[in-house]
Amino acid sequence: MLAALTSSDIMALEDRYDCGVYPMQPVALVRGQGARVWDADGREYIDCMAGHGVANVGHANVVVNQAIIEQLGRLITCHGAVYNDQRALLLQKLVSIAPPGLERAFLCNSGTEAVEAAFKFARLVTGRKKIVAAMRGFHGRTFGALSATWRKEYREPFEPLVPGFEFVPYNRLDRMQEAVTEETAAVILEVVQGEGGVYPGEPDYLRGVQELCQERGALFIVDEIQTGFGRTGQMFACEHYGLRPDLMCVAKGIAGGLPMGAVLIGARVGALPKRVHGNTFGGNPLCCAAALATIGYIEAENLPQRAAERGAQLMAGLQAIQSPRIREVRGLGLMVGVELKEQAGPYLAALAERGVLALSAGPTVMRFLPPLVISAEEIDIVVARVAEVLNV
Ligand SMILES: *Cc1c(COP(=O)(O)O)cnc(C)c1O
Repeated sequence: MLAALTSSDIMALEDRYDCGVYPMQPVALVRGQGARVWDADGREYIDCMAGHGVANVGHANVVVNQAIIEQLGRLITCHGAVYNDQRALLLQKLVSIAPPGLERAFLCNSGTEAVEAAFKFARLVTGRKKIVAAMRGFHGRTFGALSATWRKEYREPFEPLVPGFEFVPYNRLDRMQEAVTEETAAVILEVVQGEGGVYPGEPDYLRGVQELCQERGALFIVDEIQTGFGRTGQMFACEHYGLRPDLMCVAKGIAGGLPMGAVLIGARVGALPKRVHGNTFGGNPLCCAAALATIGYIEAENLPQRAAERGAQLMAGLQAIQSPRIREVRGLGLMVGVELKEQAGPYLAALAERGVLALSAGPTVMRFLPPLVISAEEIDIVVARVAEVLNV
């Protein structure tokens, strides 16, 4: 057996050999269980990163692991041009849990791929070119998805991007009314803006945008990549608002941590012509089996309900912290942001020192996306640690 690497060994190797695109946190994780993770030196953390909102069912989930192990022994790969049992069952399952009106799905391997596919489908079926997206929105890093992503630092070095994209302020229906025309193929929105700072959409806004799209013949694309699979207290955040998108992008938590994305497709799009899109790994039996087990677990354990309860506890706890450094606490379910009046980075580092891992969402927001299986006691610990670091 190889000698186990220490945290500093791991960091030295990655710093030397990784391409370097990630701003690294000085933590080397090697194991997880539920809402806890451990570094290579045996230090324990409560994980409010969850692999960027991926581990909704918790780390090392036995039900998901068992499904993966069983599928490994049967079939890992099967191209989308050949039928497969796990894929058939997953497609049926996805449609059955999706908001009403979504009837079919395209399977891929990540969030950004789901967004790319949705844009292609929208242009194809409407014959129109324009896509309207929101300021502060995040939809991914490949050229199409990046063209709908707001942050200048992400976009500018790679211009020219895909033409036809326009940005409007989030939660401003009047500005959306000006932007959506008979040339608009689609509007894409997050229900709760995640990377942009954890901003929930207002119900009248989201429903108003949906109506506007219907009136003007544009498709309404909802990006549920971060909000989906129980995160916000419903299986999909659309359900809080009664939304019926034409295209819904999902990924992150869908397959318990294995890479997978999907676009759910509504009646206004319908079945697509042969060969207009596709990919090699999308809908592979291994990820489909993992996704089926993940969704089954989310339903059996009623994780959306638990996210609502633990999320309310987390929000209330954070809101009760008396710190002059806090500007606002906001969120939905277990997607919670604490906006500071100063940079969040040093406080996130201090929090990690105290055994709680959390994310940023823009420069001044601390973001909490724990596994939905996190316990009430663990939430209490998170709140206590946040209070400590914001009051030193
Ligand atoms: C993470 C995320 C994406 C991109 O997903 P990847 O799997 O990283 O490509 C797109 N949209 C939203 C809202 C996200 O949170």
